Amino acid sequence: MTIPSTAQEIPSNIYKPGAPLEARVIDHYRLTAPDSPNDVCHIVYDVSASDLKYVEGQSIGVLPPGEDANGKPHKLRLYSIASPGVGDDGHGKTLTVCVKRAITVDEATGQEYHGVCSSYLCDLKVGDTSKLTGPVGKAFIMPDQPNANLIMVATGTGIAPFRAFLSKRYKQLQHETGQSWLFFGAQTRKDFLYEAELKAYQENAGCQVITAFSREEKNAQGNRMYVQHRLIEHGETLFELLKQPETYLYICGLRGMEAGILEGFQEIAQRQGIDWNVFFDTLKAEKRWHVEVY
Ligand SMILES: Cc1cc2nc3c(=O)[nH]c(=O)nc-3n(C[C@H](O)[C@H](O)[C@H](O)COP(=O)(O)OP(=O)(O)OC[C@H]3O[C@@H](n4cnc5c(N)ncnc54)[C@H](O)[C@@H]3O)c2cc1C
Repeated sequence: MTIPSTAQEIPSNIYKPGAPLEARVIDHYRLTAPDSPNDVCHIVYDVSASDLKYVEGQSIGVLPPGEDANGKPHKLRLYSIASPGVGDDGHGKTLTVCVKRAITVDEATGQEYHGVCSSYLCDLKVGDTSKLTGPVGKAFIMPDQPNANLIMVATGTGIAPFRAFLSKRYKQLQHETGQSWLFFGAQTRKDFLYEAELKAYQENAGCQVITAFSREEKNAQGNRMYVQHRLIEHGETLFELLKQPETYLYICGLRGMEAGILEGFQEIAQRQGIDWNVFFDTLKAEKRWHVEVY
């Protein structure tokens, strides 16, 4: 079994909240369709004049300006890095995040609450600067193994680390032989983040891209189609892959999505006469099951 990377190779907390990196926004645009109710932004920072280093799968901290209700500076929020370690520029001079504007509506009163940091990030303009910390994260890291089979399951902005993985695999590395399976879930096609990029990987590099749009598609039972239903559809193939020690599974996105996926896998295991609990324990023990939900 190959451990993805040694802890020493993974950069950690180069910039701390007391001395953050001030990084300038060099690109900023909306990823969701203009008529989607969800606002998700692609934000690229220039980090060229810094010591920042990061690897695929890590997160960055953002210190939003201003104070909370108690007069204390706002706490930092974490965002998965959506670019590969070499940056989207290919020279390690940029860092990209993909941020959903968090809005909660009180059903009883209709009052809207806007998230502090996501609103700040989605409202940034090119030329603005942000205070960044990190990078953080040592577990949700892309395996350093050309024959690794990657099964990636994302909902919404959970696509961010997988965009980094796929960019590294297909734009940077030369001898990748492992398979890539990406499952992406969102409410509708209007929220298909990075659709063109992902389809290009599918058409030109053989990456499997499988989508589930819960408000537009129905599963076999006639209910909303979620990513776990797509996993079940491909269950036999995925289990054959997961039996191989070079297969790694990653789940990223909405808190709660893991439960549905676990149910889905349990169903597939049952169909195949496999004791899911034993199989699941093996995947976790071998560091082949990774989850980052928020
Ligand atoms: C490891 C990790 C990676 C992450 N990666 C990403 C990523 O790639 N992209 C991304 O978009 N997010 C990501 N997140 C989530 C992100 O860190 C923030 O949690 C998110 O942006 C919301 O922060 P906020 O400051 O906008 O909302 P906050 O101000 O912290 O509010 C939190 C929520 O509460 C609601 N709220 C606020 N006040 C009230 C109130 N009085 N009553 C009811 N509701 C209220 C807000 O609408 C919001 O939905 C990640 C989190 C983690 C831990």
